Amino acid sequence: MVNAREMAQTQLDKAAKLLELDDSLLECLKHPKSVLTVTMPVRMDDGKVRTFTGYRSQHSNARGPFKGGIRYHPQVSLDEVVALSMWMSWKCAVVDIPFGGGKGGVICDPKQMSQGELERLTRRYTHAIASFIGPDKDIPAPDVYTNPQVMAWIVDTYSEIQGKRSLGVVTGKPLEIGGSLGRDTATARGCIVAAREALAEQRIDSRAATVAVQGYGNAGSFAHKFAQEMLGAKVVAVSDSTGGIYDQRGLDYERVRAHKEKTGRVAEFAGTEPITNEELLELDVDLLVPAALEDQINEKNAGRIRAKIVCEAANGPTTPQADEVLFRKGITVVPDILANAGGVTVSYFEWLQAFNEYPWTEAEVNRRLEEKIVRGYQSVREIARRHRVDNRTAALVLAVGRVAKALSLQGVWP
Ligand code: NAD
Repeated sequence: MVNAREMAQTQLDKAAKLLELDDSLLECLKHPKSVLTVTMPVRMDDGKVRTFTGYRSQHSNARGPFKGGIRYHPQVSLDEVVALSMWMSWKCAVVDIPFGGGKGGVICDPKQMSQGELERLTRRYTHAIASFIGPDKDIPAPDVYTNPQVMAWIVDTYSEIQGKRSLGVVTGKPLEIGGSLGRDTATARGCIVAAREALAEQRIDSRAATVAVQGYGNAGSFAHKFAQEMLGAKVVAVSDSTGGIYDQRGLDYERVRAHKEKTGRVAEFAGTEPITNEELLELDVDLLVPAALEDQINEKNAGRIRAKIVCEAANGPTTPQADEVLFRKGITVVPDILANAGGVTVSYFEWLQAFNEYPWTEAEVNRRLEEKIVRGYQSVREIARRHRVDNRTAALVLAVGRVAKALSLQGVWP
């Protein structure tokens, strides 16, 4: 398993070299500004107390408050959370929204926990990081295995601690308590808008395009929906942590989703062939959307990837070694910090709506989201062409340049 923090630092070094970034600025950007590690005793349903470890990493607030999701997963580590917080700084800068980068994580297995246990863990974690976060300080959101319900518990706990209602402390909230229309689908929508641009640039007719999606949670399942509805493409394979399904005639979103809701997984959907996650990644498709975890396309399988375009809904699915192989093979990668920036973009819209207490229509949210992603895509492609580099390096040059500029303008205090 590639270390995500090393991966993020390798990517940063590459961009810094092209930018001829000052060494002291680079050193500053290499490390998170603050990291908090918390230990949380939680009473489980059987009456016993279990201790959980959680983190919150704040990478940079040079361009605005720290911003980034909270992940609940057994494999969460400090290095992973730090890497994800750094990627958040770059992501917000690529789409030019006034946020910095943060990320949180708790080592736990939510699939093995009851709702009551998850609620008690969430409230305890919120209490432990309460002085670290805040609407103009650090604003969490959902990530892997957290959702609007988890955000609602955070809002309530944080508001109780502050002694006042504080809806702006997280984004990705339920609509009833200040969530934004279109936030639940924003990551996938942004990803498919970026994919549409990449397909058009390569003159691939999206209605004739084939698609494979790895991961079937928030990002992956809606990527299936939008690939079908917005592109008119044929999604031939999808998967989740228990395995995948393949049908060369195309998989209908509504039917697969209903099956997943009923059985808890995509596997064994009638009339399809089983496929492993590894096989899915290597399918000969026009568009591959990794929407699960890091380190999925690495030096072991990069040589066997056959997709024409890889559009990264997940964070960090491709390692730097694999990036080089894909670039040499002429495979276009739309990097995570652009391809999945739709989520944080609509989080920003949600935060604005909460401050102004004035909700936007879904059409307005989607229009502004599309505008941000298309502009980000065009800026990245322009830099990629100018420097003759891959899209990830170009996106990092754009983002690191913006963060470094903000940092150098503010200077070093004292
Ligand atoms: P989620 O919890 O809703 O879904 C995760 C999905 O990944 C599940 O379907 C799960 O079964 C699958 N999965 C887990 N391990 C897997 C494995 N080893 N192989 C295949 N599938 C596996 O999470 P999500 O919010 O959809 O996040 C997925 C990715 O997208 C993450 O990398 C996350 O950081 C990134 N992302 C999410 C958002 C967002 O707004 N939700 C925004 C930006 C980036």
